[in-house]
Amino acid sequence: MNEEIKEIKTDEEESTSLTSQLDAIKGNDDIPVIKEKKKWTKEKFIKALLAFFACLFLISLYFHYYPPTPKPVEINPDEIEEVVSTPLPAELTELSSPTLIVNKNYSLPSDYVPNSLVTPYVLSTSDIIQVNELAAADLKEMVEKAKEEGITLYLSSGYISYETQIDLYEDRVSLVGESEASKTFPKAGYSEHQTGLAFDFTNDPASPSNSTSFEETDASKWLRENAYKYGFILRYPKDKEHITGYTYMPWHYRYVGKEVAEAIHNIGEDITMEEFYEIGK
Ligand code: ZN
Repeated sequence: MNEEIKEIKTDEEESTSLTSQLDAIKGNDDIPVIKEKKKWTKEKFIKALLAFFACLFLISLYFHYYPPTPKPVEINPDEIEEVVSTPLPAELTELSSPTLIVNKNYSLPSDYVPNSLVTPYVLSTSDIIQVNELAAADLKEMVEKAKEEGITLYLSSGYISYETQIDLYEDRVSLVGESEASKTFPKAGYSEHQTGLAFDFTNDPASPSNSTSFEETDASKWLRENAYKYGFILRYPKDKEHITGYTYMPWHYRYVGKEVAEAIHNIGEDITMEEFYEIGK
């Protein structure tokens, strides 16, 4: 019995000894570990190649039936505005053009001053009125022709600077309130008087004719019949408020040049610049 136990112990000792030797061998880096090399046979190579091309085929098949959804392009709202709204022709936007458009949609920069401002040498309610040189000669010719026909026209307003527009608008708002003021008075930068191509006429040297009663005067009637011959149009006609954005102003004329004024006149009575050029107010 004791011997059997001894033998077992011996076996255990041997086993422990062998295990520790094996561990020592494993931990020894000096002993090279022989790895079994995988052999690539021709057959295996062809199989791998076929598998590779099969994968490629399946991938291309997938993208054919399920193409990737294109990433939505981020669009700048300003760019949309440019694309949607048709650009205005140069004759309406060039600052030196006699048909430069100014209305409730299109304003002038605060530092815009016409290239050449001159004294008009016509009868006026003020000595300081200046006009755009582009209109000066035709304005003088028109006023002189009216005089020859017994109509005395006085100029009550021509060029109005950006700064003066600020004052005028604020005065008007304090007098009648914002909503009423905006019907007849443009905010600074939105007055075509800043172009020096807009003119207010009166038959009374003592006061500007800023009332619709001016339409009853001979001066107004003469202008309605003849202004286009000299390059002027009635800018804010009656019942065109939805187009121009302003109420009827029988005293306010706009110089656009003889050619354009005649073309507008030939289309019909009281055609506005917005209608003639097919643009928004
Ligand atoms: Zn005016």
